[in-house]
Amino acid sequence: MSADLTRLSAAALADALTSGEASSVEATQAHLDRIAAVDGAVHAFLHVSSQKALATAADVDARRSAGEELHPLAGVPIAVKDVVVTQGLPTTAGSKILEGWVPPYDATLVEKIKAAGLPILGKTNMDEFAMGSSTEHSAYGNTHNPWDLDRIPGGSGGGSAAAVAAYEAPLAIGTDTGGSIRQPAAVTGTVGVKPTYGGVSRYGLIALASSLDQAGPVTRTVLDSALLHELIGGHDPRDSTSINEPLPDLVGAARLGANGDLTGVRVGVITELQGEGYQAGVQARFDESLELLRSAGAEIVEVSCPHFTYALAAYYLILPAEASSNLAKFDGMRFGLRVIPEDNPTAERVMSATRGQGFGDEVKRRIILGTYALSAGYYDAYYGSAQKVRTLIQRDFSAAFEKADVLVSPTAPTTAFKLGEKLDDPLAMYLNDVATIPANLAGVPGLSLPSGLSDDGLPVGFQVLAPAKADDRLYRVGAALEALLENEWGGPLLGRAPELETR
Ligand code: GLN
Repeated sequence: MSADLTRLSAAALADALTSGEASSVEATQAHLDRIAAVDGAVHAFLHVSSQKALATAADVDARRSAGEELHPLAGVPIAVKDVVVTQGLPTTAGSKILEGWVPPYDATLVEKIKAAGLPILGKTNMDEFAMGSSTEHSAYGNTHNPWDLDRIPGGSGGGSAAAVAAYEAPLAIGTDTGGSIRQPAAVTGTVGVKPTYGGVSRYGLIALASSLDQAGPVTRTVLDSALLHELIGGHDPRDSTSINEPLPDLVGAARLGANGDLTGVRVGVITELQGEGYQAGVQARFDESLELLRSAGAEIVEVSCPHFTYALAAYYLILPAEASSNLAKFDGMRFGLRVIPEDNPTAERVMSATRGQGFGDEVKRRIILGTYALSAGYYDAYYGSAQKVRTLIQRDFSAAFEKADVLVSPTAPTTAFKLGEKLDDPLAMYLNDVATIPANLAGVPGLSLPSGLSDDGLPVGFQVLAPAKADDRLYRVGAALEALLENEWGGPLLGRAPELETR
């Protein structure tokens, strides 16, 4: 096959593999070559697994030749965020405290990926323990945005988004606790989906905040996200919060949406998530996308979610509280790093030295915040109040979904900012997730897709939210908008990204 295999969507690549136009070994090698050529500049990967990926590819090719019935995505390579445990592949969660740790087991979603025969290209860079919006909190250095190497790729899953945007992988896995799939997708011109809480197993994700974490797809098209979501989703008895019901027909919804007809679909614009604080170009692209939805037959209504104003404050109590407890297990006794102080190395002093050296500043900041919020005497004032706000936000969503089938907003208030710009200002960093956090607090699903370039020439994301367990609506509306926009642009937005220098 002469076309560059790295430029195809996952669905198109899967077709090429099925028809015999290309082999998985060729496709996997093409992506490994691309990684070798551009990842020195992008730094999306923390670990590249060439040999294992090629071995999986060769196995899939052999099974296909033998006439075996394979998963539709068999042989299509994928990258996995380094917070997801992978047997035999290093897993660090972007932290020094897990340097050198090789998990003895696979996350459920990784088991599914392996069983379906997708070669795993490697593990992607991220903010340490998924805390951040820029990937600058990784203990292993920045990832660079392929649109402009001086800018952030979003976070915490900047590595997965940059890998997909730079054609280093057609598919990637992210995790989203407050926006870490959707916000990186927005600032890199890719598609990212946070499924309904409980829709994808959390077994084998290194937990940040267990009541908020969800894994999901990072891709270049809405259909590709639906295909990957169907592969990784579904009930898992090893995750007690896993939904014990079949997934809705996500791929069917994406294919239906692609015809561009949204007659009868009610789209709710969230009053609180637009206007002041949103970059002019972000708001302009959002408004234009709304007009396209209207032209496709959707009914646009305005809905108010008054408690969303408090979402960020509630999140930054609940998240640190849960994180401080989840991170207690990194004590130098069980995983990765162990620092033994020279004088009087008692167990307690080893733990303290290991955590002191192993955790970065942002992680320490949140552990301190979390333990403070949970301490006796403060629990009701902080954690208890935050949980009440969470309930109010859930009620806002319920009321809004009476009036609309999906809700929409810009995914992030700004386009990609410069590396270093917000590193010394935690609050400014936290504000990037103002539009994505409500979905995590309520457990509802959300999708971000590219909606154009802002005045600064950088990608803007459009967010679609749906009621819990109605993830299919994201795909229908997302695919419809994607088709309408690409019709206007004459191709995908990523086609307008500058070519990266290769070496
Ligand atoms: N940026 C948010 C935070 O720092 C979201 C992180 C995430 O979704 N993992 O917590």
